[in-house]
Amino acid sequence: MKLTTVIGAAVTAAAMTVGGSAAAQQQFISIGTGGVTGVYYPTGGAICRLVNRDRKEHGIRCAVESTGGSVYNINTIKAGELEFGVAQSDWQYHAYNGTSKFADNHFPEIRAMFSVHPEPFTLMARSDAGVSSFEDLVGKRVNVGNPGSGQRATMEVAMEAFGISMDDFALATEYKGSEMAKQLCDGNIDAMIYTIGHPSAAVKEATTTCDVDLVSVTGAAIDQLVADNSFYRVATIPASMYKGNDSDTTTFGVGATFVTSANVPDEVAYIVAKSVMSNLDDFRGLHPAFANLDASQMVSDGLSAPLHPGAEKAYKELGLID
Ligand code: GLU
Repeated sequence: MKLTTVIGAAVTAAAMTVGGSAAAQQQFISIGTGGVTGVYYPTGGAICRLVNRDRKEHGIRCAVESTGGSVYNINTIKAGELEFGVAQSDWQYHAYNGTSKFADNHFPEIRAMFSVHPEPFTLMARSDAGVSSFEDLVGKRVNVGNPGSGQRATMEVAMEAFGISMDDFALATEYKGSEMAKQLCDGNIDAMIYTIGHPSAAVKEATTTCDVDLVSVTGAAIDQLVADNSFYRVATIPASMYKGNDSDTTTFGVGATFVTSANVPDEVAYIVAKSVMSNLDDFRGLHPAFANLDASQMVSDGLSAPLHPGAEKAYKELGLID
């Protein structure tokens, strides 16, 4: 655990005056997110902003870290080096159940806090690359995502579903989220995938810097994935959200979820959960991808690990669960 107790007398004294014994110690919590042009990074920022607003009362100081993404966040929470993180619902499921990528790295203590925005598996290609389906990636230069990112892990699942291997690409690169748009528009890759909420800065960057198409990812392989796995669903990226993309894009998707560990104290999880869910209107206003968030869905949808008991207590108090 990295929960640090600040023993500085001034901080302790100030906190005690304001909030009594619960606030007697300053605690630091860190949220693992993703690349700075993704949606996880502003998601962590929005959560911290609401937590830090009442810092004088509860003594928790929340900070955000830009990271490689979902799988990195889950592993780092498991190692006790992050208290919270944003992670795709598919990787929350597999971490909790010890399946897929987590077969040798089971994390039964992963706990759910709440779900956030939907994340379609987003395939983007240069308009001159001749890519109008997932299968068209064969023979192309494709950014398959950095190791540790949710999109890389989900890309491997999609490739297996379509029977495509890394060797089928002319080149497979591992640029991270914040680098992909530039690589695409510089012509160093033909296509990239990003499991990401919309609208997002990264996709906006690519579609406004050069001519980029959002490509539908559909077909029998995807229908099967969605039918077989509760954490996948058909997803649509609406028409006209991004420059040059005037019709809907259909693909499959997951949900962004906020996770922690059973080892994080109940009181800490309680304060974080309550800070967000009792200020949901403010939270919604902090990123356009949060526009449709609904409290009762957030405390149930896409959560395969049990709720952290601290979060459960907060949601009961708020009347969100029985
Ligand atoms: N879904 C991506 C991941 O799990 C991150 C997306 C984002 O940063 O918004 O790595």
